[in-house]
Amino acid sequence: MNQWQRYRSSIEARCISPGIQENSMTFWRDKLFAITVSFALPLSLIAIIPGVYISILGGLYGVVYFDIFAITGLIIIGHSPGMTVVWRKLFFCFILYAAGIVLLYFLGYFGPGFIYLLAISIFMVIIYPNKFAFSSFFINIVICFGFGLAIYNGYLIDRFSNNSNVLPLQSWVANSANLLFLSAVFSFLIPKLSSGLQASLLQQDKLKKELDAQKQDLEKLNIHLKDKNKELEQFAYIASHDLQEPLRMVTGFLSQLDKKYSPQLDEKAQQYIFLAVDGAKRMRQIIVDLLEFSRAGKSEESRVEIDLNHLVDDVVALQKNIIDEKNAVVRKKDLPVVKGYKSMLLQVFQNLINNALKYSKPDQPPEITISCESLNGSWNISISDNGIGIEEKYFEQIFKIFNRLHPKDVYEGTGLGLAIVKKVIEPLGGSIWVESEIGIGSTFFITLPK
Ligand code: ADP
Repeated sequence: MNQWQRYRSSIEARCISPGIQENSMTFWRDKLFAITVSFALPLSLIAIIPGVYISILGGLYGVVYFDIFAITGLIIIGHSPGMTVVWRKLFFCFILYAAGIVLLYFLGYFGPGFIYLLAISIFMVIIYPNKFAFSSFFINIVICFGFGLAIYNGYLIDRFSNNSNVLPLQSWVANSANLLFLSAVFSFLIPKLSSGLQASLLQQDKLKKELDAQKQDLEKLNIHLKDKNKELEQFAYIASHDLQEPLRMVTGFLSQLDKKYSPQLDEKAQQYIFLAVDGAKRMRQIIVDLLEFSRAGKSEESRVEIDLNHLVDDVVALQKNIIDEKNAVVRKKDLPVVKGYKSMLLQVFQNLINNALKYSKPDQPPEITISCESLNGSWNISISDNGIGIEEKYFEQIFKIFNRLHPKDVYEGTGLGLAIVKKVIEPLGGSIWVESEIGIGSTFFITLPK
């Protein structure tokens, strides 16, 4: 904080009532008063230095003494401890009124007395509540009446005569009427402005409170949603993990039954066993995929540099059987080294390449191309195939859990592969989408921040 800021904040600490609500009209009235006091001290020198000089030349020592009093008063208002804001404001107004009266007394029409009286009446309407709006107007009436009485009784004639045919009292009445008219206008108009401001401040405050309440509700909802999500994931994990054991038993005993007793069973019974084993196998696959889904996106390993060329080679090696079986070609182009979790990215590429192989056309060997472009701080990876394609209306749906477009006997699957990919990619700050045409092929796009 520099010197000027320190000076201003010390004045604000003294001239703004403690404990008032920020943004209320009372706060702004006090704030304006504090700003005026902090600027009045240095700026008053502009008026006082030439004023004192001329007053000494003209022998007006009363003005000189008053200037000294005014400066001392301003210092007390801004810096003395232990004075309430109400007294500081009263003292400030008193000094301004005194300035107006002293200047009128010593300099008459030739001094800036009227200007001070008008300025203080505007200032008072601003820094005091609206119910006191006309008090400055009434004080001005009293001052004008006092001076009028003095002129009427033959005092101060030399300062208020203007060498014309007009009598000093007539000229005083005409001049002070203008002052009273202007101060009445300000006493009437400024409160209108401050009422409008007050209304808009209240409205703003109300809106802010509503917004804060909404934000809090949203935060609570968010926490609730996160908790529920965690619970659900935990449930999926526990259910799929614990179901594996009894399922293994069912499959095991069914296989035993088949092995040991099949010669004694008729054809129908054997078919029933076959269907039961098949059902159990499919259930196992669903459970394994569910378990994988509940774990997706969470990793204990640390982020490492991964060469995607090597990663795709690993996936190709894992899928060797099906690649050979289908005579598939897998090409890779310009794959970069990215930072990430190896097992997660392996799962992503495995699921996407597996799908490209699975959803190939029966009469055409699959051709899969994996390529990458660098785009504004992220990698844009694409995995395209020449498979059966996807209708546009399913472009979003296929990323949802258990959403499949084909019956199990046509294409095997559990409908979890793409949901797992999405769940891995999004927490990494990436995104995934598909572009496809039926009968031509599909391209899955993944973006990953660099
Ligand atoms: P699953 O393959 O086990 O059914 P996925 O979540 O991997 O589950 O895929 C969801 C659906 O999206 C699939 O059932 C399939 O209809 C469609 N799909 C995914 N990949 C492709 C692809 N490369 N070509 C055509 N359809 C696809």
